[in-house]
Amino acid sequence: MTYDQYIIETQALSFLQKGPNAFGVYRGFPVCCSFQGKAEGKTAVITVSVEGKRGMKFFRALNQSIKGLGNAVNGQASGSVVQIHLQIRNGFGGPFREVMERFASTAEEYGLRPPTLCPICHQGGCNGYAFLGDGYMPVHEGCLRELHQRVNASAHQNMSEGSILTGIIGGLVGGLVAGVPSLLTILLLERVYAALMWLIPMGVAFGYKKCNGKRSRAAGPILILLSLLSMYLMEYMLFVVIMATEYGWGVGEALITTLPFLLDPSFWVTLVQSSVMELVFLVLGIAVSWKTLTGTAADDVSNVEACLSTYQPMPGAASQTSSGQDGNTMDGNAAAAEEQ
Ligand SMILES: [Zn+2]
Repeated sequence: MTYDQYIIETQALSFLQKGPNAFGVYRGFPVCCSFQGKAEGKTAVITVSVEGKRGMKFFRALNQSIKGLGNAVNGQASGSVVQIHLQIRNGFGGPFREVMERFASTAEEYGLRPPTLCPICHQGGCNGYAFLGDGYMPVHEGCLRELHQRVNASAHQNMSEGSILTGIIGGLVGGLVAGVPSLLTILLLERVYAALMWLIPMGVAFGYKKCNGKRSRAAGPILILLSLLSMYLMEYMLFVVIMATEYGWGVGEALITTLPFLLDPSFWVTLVQSSVMELVFLVLGIAVSWKTLTGTAADDVSNVEACLSTYQPMPGAASQTSSGQDGNTMDGNAAAAEEQ
C-alpha cells in the first residue's frame, strides 16, 4: 500500500500521526504503528504495550491465531511490549483491526492485560498516554512535564557549566583508580585477569561525569584515549614496580632508569603485543560505557520532547495541569486529540 493511504487509514482510527508512526489505543491496549518503507510499503510494525508475563506459549498461540495476517516476534523478554509485523499489501485498517481483535482475545487467555502503571513514577491512575521507553504507555501528564523540566534543567546546567578539561582530569583519575584491581591481582596473585580491563573505561566514564565533564561529540574520543592512556600508564607502573623489585631499586631510581624506554618504539611494540587480551576487554568496556557519555545534553532534551509530542490525554480523565508553563506542546496535542 502507499504511504499516503496508510496515513489516511491511521487517521481514520483517530490515531495521533507523527510521520510514519501513529499512536493510539485499541481494545484498551496502547499501540504504536510504524509504516515500513518510503512511498510504498508491504509491512507495518505494531508495538502493543502489555502488562503481565509474555511466555513462549503466548507467542505460539498468537502467531497461530494471526497466521496469514502477520507474525509476532519475541524480542526482549524483559520489555513490556509485543511487536507484530503486519502485512499491509491490501490496506492497513482492516488487517490491523483483525489482528488486534485476535491479539486481545489471546492476551486475555494468557493473562496479559493493558498496562496501567506510569513508567516514570510506577503508580497507577494515569491520565494520558505517551511513547516512553519501548512502547506507547499510560502516563501521568504531571510526571511527563516534570521529567521534561528536570532534563531541560540538567541539560542547561551541563551545557553552561560542563567543562572538557575537568572531565579529562576526572576521567584519567577514574581510569587509573579502576586499574588498581588489575595491578593488585598481577602483583599479589601474579596473574593477569584481562577481564578486569573492562573496569577502566567505566572508571573513565564515571570520573568524567563526576567531575562535571561537558557532554559533547568529543566525549567519545576522549573516552577511548583516556582508557588507552590509563591502561598503558598502569602497565608502565607495573613495569616500574617489577624492575624496582628485581634490581632492588628505589621508585625514583626505577622511574629514571625506565623513562628512556618510553621513547623507544620497540618497548611500545612489545607492550601492545603482550596486551592483546587486555585490549579486547578494554574495547568491550568502551563499548559499554560509550552510550553513557556520547549523547549530548541537547539530545536528552530532544528525546524527551519527542516523548512529549506523542502525549494524548486519556478519554474522560481529568487533566492534572495547574500551571501554564511549557504547556504549548501538550496543550496543542490535547486540543488536536479532542478535535478528532
Ligand atoms: Zn506518573
